Amino acid sequence: MEITGETRLLGLLGSPVSHSLSPRMHNAAFGRLGLDYVYLAFETTQESLSRVVAALRDMNVKGFNITMPLKKSVLPLLDGISPEARMIGCVNTVANEDGRLIGYNTDGLGYVRDLKEHGVSVRGARIALAGAGGAARSAAIQLALDGAAEIAVFNRTLEKAADIADAINKNIPGCRAEALCLEEGSLARRLEDADILVNATALGMRPHEDASVISSPGLLRRDLVVSDFIYEPSRTKLLRIAEEAGCRTLNGSGMLLYQGAEAFRIWTGMDMPVEYVRREVFRF
Ligand code: NAP
Repeated sequence: MEITGETRLLGLLGSPVSHSLSPRMHNAAFGRLGLDYVYLAFETTQESLSRVVAALRDMNVKGFNITMPLKKSVLPLLDGISPEARMIGCVNTVANEDGRLIGYNTDGLGYVRDLKEHGVSVRGARIALAGAGGAARSAAIQLALDGAAEIAVFNRTLEKAADIADAINKNIPGCRAEALCLEEGSLARRLEDADILVNATALGMRPHEDASVISSPGLLRRDLVVSDFIYEPSRTKLLRIAEEAGCRTLNGSGMLLYQGAEAFRIWTGMDMPVEYVRREVFRF
């Protein structure tokens, strides 16, 4: 890729960002499609965020991604927010639309697209979701918007689960949401008639690699789809238990790829060459 006087800048704001795959993912896609854009990572803290966003605005960048811990604090710095991102309460993607910075949230879109790409139907599905952080909230709202029939949100901190359930019950008719304490017995009971189990907690990820929201294959039906937002490690303890039970499993790498693909589409209006990016960057 040749950087020219017309190359437009995109980037990632957050801390830490040096480990992120987003620069490799987007630059590989720009190169493949011959688009004159470049994507860089900018270490940004709560303290520097408003100055960084003002500078990006002045430099007329094409857009940027926002990651932890800034997904909420960027909201007052934007000129507009998509209806979905407003319901979710945070953004991970910002587009410069004729000088106005508009916020979107593509985490849930990425998760739902990954399910669909794997032939898992969301319409009418009964979902047990463990976790109520930012990623869980984004996925829950998107699953409800895409026609899920029931979502049971299990979380250690019940108020956060209740907040997600309220947002769905108030705003998305057709989906019934409920909040429960994250406890293996009640989760296992709900799994008796669920279609999809989603782990959106940090359990399974370093330093909790040996933890899982379900501890035994005997608690999982063979026809349950089990997905984990975690992509490092690629096979969490939960996914290993689910494989043992004979369930279909999905890790978080597809969600990561497709949330990037949705951001790419918002910025460029084009489809990301996902198979190329999967091969070149993700190698799965
Ligand atoms: P977050 O906002 O910090 O939420 C963390 C969630 O994990 C909360 O529900 C929290 O419960 C729960 N949790 C943390 N430690 C726990 C423990 N010891 N026992 C029980 N629950 C615990 O983080 P997030 O951004 O939503 O991310 C959640 C997970 O999704 C992470 O593993 C992250 O890597 C992954 N993720 C993946 C993608 C992707 O593209 N694949 C995208 C975003 C996130 P409390 O509310 O009680 O604290």
